[in-house]
Amino acid sequence: MAQQHNDAPQNTSLTAASFKAVHLSRLESGETMAEIIHVPLSELPPGEVLVRVQHSTLNYKDALAITGKSPVVRQFPMIPGIDFAGTVEQSADDRFQPGDQVILNGWGTGELRWGGLAQYASTKADWLIPLPKKMTTEQAMSIGTAGYTAMLCVIALERHGIKPESGPILVTGANGGVGSIAIALLSQLGYLVTASTGRVHETEHLLSLGAQAVMDRSALSSPNKPLQKENWAAAIDCVGSHTLANVLASTRYGGIVAACGLAQGMDLPSTVAPFILRGVTLAGIDSVYAPLAIRKQAWERLSHEFPERHRISTVRTIGLTQVIPLAEQLLAGKIRGRLMVDVHA
Ligand code: NDP
Repeated sequence: MAQQHNDAPQNTSLTAASFKAVHLSRLESGETMAEIIHVPLSELPPGEVLVRVQHSTLNYKDALAITGKSPVVRQFPMIPGIDFAGTVEQSADDRFQPGDQVILNGWGTGELRWGGLAQYASTKADWLIPLPKKMTTEQAMSIGTAGYTAMLCVIALERHGIKPESGPILVTGANGGVGSIAIALLSQLGYLVTASTGRVHETEHLLSLGAQAVMDRSALSSPNKPLQKENWAAAIDCVGSHTLANVLASTRYGGIVAACGLAQGMDLPSTVAPFILRGVTLAGIDSVYAPLAIRKQAWERLSHEFPERHRISTVRTIGLTQVIPLAEQLLAGKIRGRLMVDVHA
């Protein structure tokens, strides 16, 4: 049973007495137990804004939290889910009124405070952004944190002065959530994109997203020389480790690599050679604590620049009950694109 919070928001006007959620607890053995339970609404931790969640997503980080494979969850019991979109039901902050539609990404949600894989969430007003006018909650969460992170990467490349005529852009982890949306966004903006993947049998799909070429990720995943042939004007790396080292080593003079992920590993077995001999820039991308202004910019751009046909082709809708079994598959790299969760399905 979930822990009691005495100063939970007043809920007399609410329609639900309890809500369905993915619930994580820690067993004495140290393992994480994940289950679907009904949580009394009175047990929600206090927050300035109470949101009736409509859609969330199953992200790589959520899968780590649910399986307990990495210490993502900092306190138990926890409801995972690093993002959600829904409708404000109660607000103690003037910026949000009941009925407003909102998005939340990160800020420790699903790690330090109860998250979006649930029918209700309470949160700080500072952490919410209004849903862009052209978007539904379903569209927003089928793009989710992966799409928002992909857009942060694209913005980093643009801020560095990379233009379509600068040359080819490499995207690693191409069949994943971030990678597949990054390919579609870059292609839509006119860039020539090479997709690096371990699933070359998905080549047709990657080409349909707008990639010009597809390469097998094995060419990048093992130790190699610190400076290699200058192939890429820029890159978006979702993978880290040797892959990131090789991407840096094959980026052109003055180019930039936006690093956002660690699917191969946390390490970076590289040298300073690409930085001091080729002026390559390594740009770190963090979606969790990114300032509000760039979040709004990223979501506004996503509402205009991410083609609807690609949104549909990269997303699969699931219900809360499918979240736990699919978390293992996600970590095993068996899921293509995005998993959007309709928390009321
Ligand atoms: P997914 O699980 O959807 O995709 C990861 C992809 O990486 C896989 O589809 C696979 O692509 C590739 N991959 C998996 N394992 C390996 C491996 N051992 N070696 C090389 N490539 C591998 O995750 P997301 O796209 O949602 O996220 C990608 C990364 O970005 C994750 O590490 C995630 O934690 C991180 N992330 C970071 C954020 C930030 O704020 N910095 C925000 C969101 C995500 P393929 O099959 O095409 O090879």
